Amino acid sequence: MIKYLELKKVTAAHGREINETVSRVVEGGWYLQGEAVARFEKEYADYIGTRHCVSCANGLDALTLILRAYMEMGVMKEGDEVIVPANTYIASILAITGNGLKPVLVEPRPDTLQIDDRLIEQAITERTRAVMIVHLYGRMAYTDLIGDICRRHGLKLIEDNAQAHGLLHSSFKKTGSIGDAAGHSFYPGKNLGALGDAGAVTTDDCELAETVRALANYGSERKYVFRYKGRNSRMDELQAAVLSVKLRYLDEDNERRRIVARRYMDEVSNPLLVMPADDYWRHSVFHIFPVLTPRRDELQQYLADNGVQTVIHYPIPPHRQQCYQGMWERDMRLPITERIHREELSIPCNQILTDDEIITVISLLNKFGRQS
Ligand SMILES: *Cc1c(COP(=O)(O)O)cnc(C)c1O
Repeated sequence: MIKYLELKKVTAAHGREINETVSRVVEGGWYLQGEAVARFEKEYADYIGTRHCVSCANGLDALTLILRAYMEMGVMKEGDEVIVPANTYIASILAITGNGLKPVLVEPRPDTLQIDDRLIEQAITERTRAVMIVHLYGRMAYTDLIGDICRRHGLKLIEDNAQAHGLLHSSFKKTGSIGDAAGHSFYPGKNLGALGDAGAVTTDDCELAETVRALANYGSERKYVFRYKGRNSRMDELQAAVLSVKLRYLDEDNERRRIVARRYMDEVSNPLLVMPADDYWRHSVFHIFPVLTPRRDELQQYLADNGVQTVIHYPIPPHRQQCYQGMWERDMRLPITERIHREELSIPCNQILTDDEIITVISLLNKFGRQS
């Protein structure tokens, strides 16, 4: 059985170092807001290339806190609009609606599956305050046109970098340092994953960083003095210590993912399957390797029958979710988003797959639809 992602093996790859660092925290007796968190924040800011990194409890909180901080800073207020790709994971949108802001959905490009930069400008109204791009599947969503639109319209550019840690733009900036602020998730299955929930905000904006830090700590800048109605959203010392170890191997792990992806792209040739466009390879850290086919459910069953586990990212688009009934016009049509959700299948693509497993997946994909 080839698992989609076997976390046990991901951890075991650096098991000795992880166990040592965990023991040190356990024995040290200091579990929150200590040295491990401070160290990881510094290391991650250096790695991403921003002045500040503020850790928090998870990726959804990171995005929520960025928007909330902008509201506290007077940059936006309830009812204002944030542009976001229609095919993103629900968390990007929950961060917007959780602050009483309005998500304006923009379709992705059918080739890159990233927000279509040509459709952003027409979605802007006088209430628009930000564009949230999502480096979905680990692929670069930023384009110069997006940067240009944000500058011309005075909009904040926020990056959802939950899926693209370590992705480098051609300007030699990493995702997470391209916009005004970025939210990162260290959910265990992400390219940089903790052993539980964790997240972070990166930014060069000192005021934003301080506001996020206070909001994540009950709204307090000084002990027992509360400036905002904040929340408790902190990364604990254990997760920070583990992330410091894993950050050292992130580039290596991403490189291995890219080698796996390269093999899929070079060696799978089946007219029934739409593989990522070739230029995808240079602009992705392959958090997810998406294959599109109208026969998606059949492909998933066939792979399962042959011992390969796959995942659908994602089965139901946000605008069709029950929680958002009444949010947008009932007859809103998003054909590209809807097609992606009907046709997408994610095949295993990670640093712990063996060569034999990769060969098995390739040969199964090449045989799909040809045996009957
Ligand atoms: C995982 C993810 C999040 C949320 O991160 P959590 O740490 O699970 O809260 C947000 N956006 C995207 C695109 C994600 O993939």
